[in-house]
Formats: sequence, structure tokens, C-alpha cells
Amino acid sequence: MRKNIVAGNWKMNKNLQEGIALAKELNEALTADKPNCDVVICTPFIHLASVTPIVDSALIGVGAENCADKVSGAYTGEVSAEMVASTGAQYVILGHSERRSYYGETVEILEEKVKLALANNLTPIFCIGEVLEERQAEKQNEVVAAQLASVFTLSAEDFSKIVLAYEPVWAIGTGLTATPEQAQDIHAYIRSLIAEKYGQEIADNCSILYGGSCKPSNAKELFAKPDVDGGLIGGAALKVADFKGIIDAFK
Ligand code: PEP
Repeated sequence: MRKNIVAGNWKMNKNLQEGIALAKELNEALTADKPNCDVVICTPFIHLASVTPIVDSALIGVGAENCADKVSGAYTGEVSAEMVASTGAQYVILGHSERRSYYGETVEILEEKVKLALANNLTPIFCIGEVLEERQAEKQNEVVAAQLASVFTLSAEDFSKIVLAYEPVWAIGTGLTATPEQAQDIHAYIRSLIAEKYGQEIADNCSILYGGSCKPSNAKELFAKPDVDGGLIGGAALKVADFKGIIDAFK
């Protein structure tokens, strides 16, 4: 059956020393009080090689927030999936709305990134979600269906290795959260699309995380919904007490 996962997205926060301190503090907290779900921290590239050896891999997975859409070569400033994997990281967030909107990442670019991540044994946490105007026009289902095109060209075997994160853009960093019912409705819709494409078993085994202003006070209610399998957490992942409060929603 599918896994429950709480994944943190540090975004462009924390210098190296601060990031190491945060990872150590989280590791200590989860060693003392074991989580009832998988826990992942996705950090800036420069933190990965330092953070992977200091966390207990049985308790905390480590991931990047992006990777290149090319294998290697003259792409100044880019970081490949192979480089990410060589740090010991096991995950990579792909398709985050900030990457789509600020860096022009298209369905096609993201398809390449997902394939390269999988070829390097990284688990993509693939993000989809609509902006406010699309939600107001009740177009959220159409939007996520179109975004899934990046991963619906995968073989069934490869699709089974990815994690999805539904993140309504209007709820990211805004303090607005989708209601548990809104989250459940669209998660169930996403799962129905997976079932249509890959069959019910693969759909039932796919973890679909919710992201968007998730915090200790709303996590339990959101995660209680049958098709919500955990969260992708931005702001609240930067403080151990908040992140652990969300992890503890599974207790
Ligand atoms: C995110 O950016 O993935 C996110 C969910 O951010 P926040 O929790 O801060 O809304």
C-alpha cells in the first residue's frame, strides 16, 4: 500500500551552517521520537553533500529542489540529476510552481527532468496545481490533468517510482490552505486519472501529497482524508518544532 510522506522544501533559505544545524536538530528530534511516516528534507544543492551523512537514512530521506534537464556538459550553473544522486540524496522536487512560473519550466522540460531523475535512481516529487484564477474559473481539474502529461509518458514501472504533490499555487506561502474537502476532491480526481492511465493498483500505490500553507494546526485534518498521503511543506519545514508538529499528525 502507498506510503505516507512528509517532505520539507527549504527553498532558497538557510546558509550551509544553518542548514546543517537544522538537519541535525531534526535528526535528533526524530531519533528521540520516531515518526509514523516517511520524512524527507529537500535542501538547496550546496547543502546536500553535508546533510546526507548527518541524518539517519532510516529516518530521514534527503532530496534536491530541482535538477537539470540535460545529462551533462556546457550548461553553466546547472546541476545534473547524476550530481544530485552522487551526494547520497534520494529525492528531487520537480515541477514546483515557483520553477514553472519564475524559470519557465514547461511540460516538456519537466518530462526530461523526471526521466533523468529516474535514470539516476532519484525519486521525483512531482508538483502540480492551479493558480487562483484557474480555481476561480473551476479549471483546476483541467490544469492538473495537463500538467500530468510530463509524467504520463513514463512506463508503468517508472510511474510507480514517483511521488506526486498537489499544490494549489494560491495556497503556497499565502497562509490560505485548501480545505480538507477541496484537497480530497482533487486528490481523488488525480488518482482517478492515474487509474485510467496505469490501472487501479498503480493508482492505489501512488502517494499524493498536499502542499500549501500546511502547518501543525491543519495537518491532521488534511492527512485524515483518504486520498491525502502526507504533505509537501515550505515555510513550516524551516523550524523543527513546526515540521515535527506536522509529522506528528500521523500519530
Ligand atoms: C511549497 O512551496 O512547496 C509549499 C507548500 O510552501 P508553504 O508550505 O510555505 O505554503
